Amino acid sequence: RAKAAGRNTMRFFDPSMQSEVSARATLESQLRYGLRDERFLLYYQIQVDRDGAIVGAECLLRWQDEHGGLISPAVFIPLAEQSGLILPIGHWVLHTACTQLAVWSERSETAQLTLAVNISARQFRRTDFVDQVLACIQDTGANPYRLKLEITESLLLDDVEDTVGKMMALKARGVGFALDDFGTGYSSLSYLKRLPFDQLKIDRSFVLDVLTDTNAAAIARTIIALGRTLELAVIAEGVETEEQRDWLAAHGCHAYQGYFFGRPEPLERLSLEAPKTLLRPTARG
Ligand code: C2E
Ligand code: MG
Ligand code: MG
Ligand code: MG
Repeated sequence: RAKAAGRNTMRFFDPSMQSEVSARATLESQLRYGLRDERFLLYYQIQVDRDGAIVGAECLLRWQDEHGGLISPAVFIPLAEQSGLILPIGHWVLHTACTQLAVWSERSETAQLTLAVNISARQFRRTDFVDQVLACIQDTGANPYRLKLEITESLLLDDVEDTVGKMMALKARGVGFALDDFGTGYSSLSYLKRLPFDQLKIDRSFVLDVLTDTNAAAIARTIIALGRTLELAVIAEGVETEEQRDWLAAHGCHAYQGYFFGRPEPLERLSLEAPKTLLRPTARG
């Protein structure tokens, strides 16, 4: 008891801890007002197929602080998760994404594009999650077959029944699912077979090292082979170079996303209509 109290006291008086705590509190209250003040925005990053044609995009949340700086979701999403603010924020993301899908559906050039939306665990676990997604689709007129929800492996581990039930319910209405950051978690392959995923996303840490690290290459190859076995599309995230893309293409990857094809961009800078002609015929034996 005394030891624990001593440790707490130490923590409390550690000046670096103190400022970390108040910085977090400030960030959290700024997040809270962020929605009201429209400080959140979506960036879009294109996804391309083997021929370099744009097949869709992933929307990535950005938060603009009062000085106009953009703050990375890697910083504020964990905080939003802890505080529960992820629920209204996540709803805003879904609604905004569906609104965009409905806009795209009005033009033949963009009507086929899919839009991937990241879903946090806490958002997914809400009892009304399925209804929330269906309401967004209904309110906006989005085509559910163009909407893809990205969830991570950690969701597969806890409460598999809940996960299966929600995925099945949305799948029945046309909504697709991608397993994000695949390879970094501990998902059991038997769950994978039970869950109605459409796509596996190879985590960017493996893509980054695919040409230099035999372990990363082996993992990427295994994921691609697994996709083939389970009849799931495989997309690589974080493709930054032509060499990485060529390696992935040679090993049978179906689709790509990364700085090589395009950075996440605000909608007004996003170029979707001209098919990318980045793919060159490669001489390969
Ligand atoms: P993620 O879903 O795995 O998204 C991919 C991340 O990799 C994005 O980071 C993207 O900007 C970045 N990226 C894409 N291509 C490249 C590349 O070629 N090289 C490198 N180095 N990075 C690349 P970002 O936008 O900072 O997002 C980080 C994470 O935050 C996302 O990882 C996702 O887990 C989470 N996130 C983003 N938006 C949302 C959202 O609306 N809701 C929730 N719950 N999470 C979100
Ligand atoms: Mg994602
Ligand atoms: Mg990812
Ligand atoms: Mg990732």
